[in-house]
Amino acid sequence: MSKDFASGRGEEPPSTSRLNSLKEFHSAGRGAWAHVSDADWNDWRWQLRNRVTTPERLQERLPTLTGDERDGLHLAENKLALAITPHFFNLIDPEDEHCPIRWQVIPRSGEGTVAPWEMSDPVGEDSHSPVPGLVHRYPDRVLMLVTDRCAAYCRYCTRSRLVSNASGYDFHPEFDRQIAYIASHPEVRDVLLSGGDPLLFTDEKLEYLLSRLRAIQHVEFIRIGTRIPVFLPQRITPELCAMLKQFHPLFISIHSNHPRELTTEVRDALGRLADAGIPLGNQSVLLKHVNDDATVMKALAQKLLLCRVKPYYVYQCDLIAGSAHLRTSVRRGLEIMKSLRGHTTGYAVPQYVIDAPGGGGKVPVNPDYVLSRNADRVVIRNFEGKVFEYPEARDGTPRFKPSEDFIAPELV
Ligand SMILES: *Cc1c(COP(=O)(O)O)cnc(C)c1O
Repeated sequence: MSKDFASGRGEEPPSTSRLNSLKEFHSAGRGAWAHVSDADWNDWRWQLRNRVTTPERLQERLPTLTGDERDGLHLAENKLALAITPHFFNLIDPEDEHCPIRWQVIPRSGEGTVAPWEMSDPVGEDSHSPVPGLVHRYPDRVLMLVTDRCAAYCRYCTRSRLVSNASGYDFHPEFDRQIAYIASHPEVRDVLLSGGDPLLFTDEKLEYLLSRLRAIQHVEFIRIGTRIPVFLPQRITPELCAMLKQFHPLFISIHSNHPRELTTEVRDALGRLADAGIPLGNQSVLLKHVNDDATVMKALAQKLLLCRVKPYYVYQCDLIAGSAHLRTSVRRGLEIMKSLRGHTTGYAVPQYVIDAPGGGGKVPVNPDYVLSRNADRVVIRNFEGKVFEYPEARDGTPRFKPSEDFIAPELV
């Protein structure tokens, strides 16, 4: 594609240079907030108070809004609130209407188009809630929703029915009832705090919740699902980290979708969490216009490792009402996974899952590496497309050497 490369001047292949430029760390900068003092800018409460939350403010900060985005704004009011932190807002490229950051946080007219198969509770959480705000879907762990507020709102939010309270769901978690349920269910050895974003709570409130969970003998480990390190890295203060590290084993799953989100500020915030001994994972959602691209996903995965974050899951976009404009095919997702596995370290390869519509839970979907399997052998394909066979018998002992007459098709 690149003329320089084609003319043989010895530059790197275009894909490598694109990968490397996607992995460069940049500061979010001050953008339109150049006049603000360092003390204010670095204060998470200032960032929250100064979020872009109204169509007027958005239009003023981003005069290049497209017709599609303007049409989307009036939909936001009673569906899912508009909110973008100044830090995250500065990652928007005003000259690029297909900027991957814009697609994630600025409403579009597509939000008003609801297909018959789309749902307000696409993964059936409400039907698996024994008490309000607690989802017990898997045998040994629960999802505990502690708030309906986030620092900023993702337009494809799977919990938009309750998050931001724009659609009148009236979410009221009752911590006492949630905790009583966990305490009376000894099979629950793993509690995942989410919402909304638990890190919006004050240190004191979070500490109170974590210590109540830690007081339950059978709770082995606690996780927090949060996008705050990405939306609001200023929240990750040394005081927060010192508080969190009292509750080990405590893991954090962050949410990032595009390498541009990993700014120098975000890298530093993640470094503070990692230094507090908190294992970090990342969850991404596969989104059209954002990351349905093998090079973008590889850059994201490798850049996460540079931030000491293990890519954990990539989700196929849930069938949330009004998300068709952001959805991409499972076929595309599988192609992307194939481009990662073996081509880069396994640490950079997340598990691709579909959260089964209606409440089946997360189901892994993988490219086919097992071509066939019978009582005698397994025929497998490697990342280069080469085919191999592995002998096995019912008791696990190979009955014979790999057949000498086995002819591996070169490429499948
Ligand atoms: C994703 C999820 C979990 C956690 O699943 P892991 O595979 O352990 O990360 C727990 N409960 C619910 C309802 C979930 O959706």
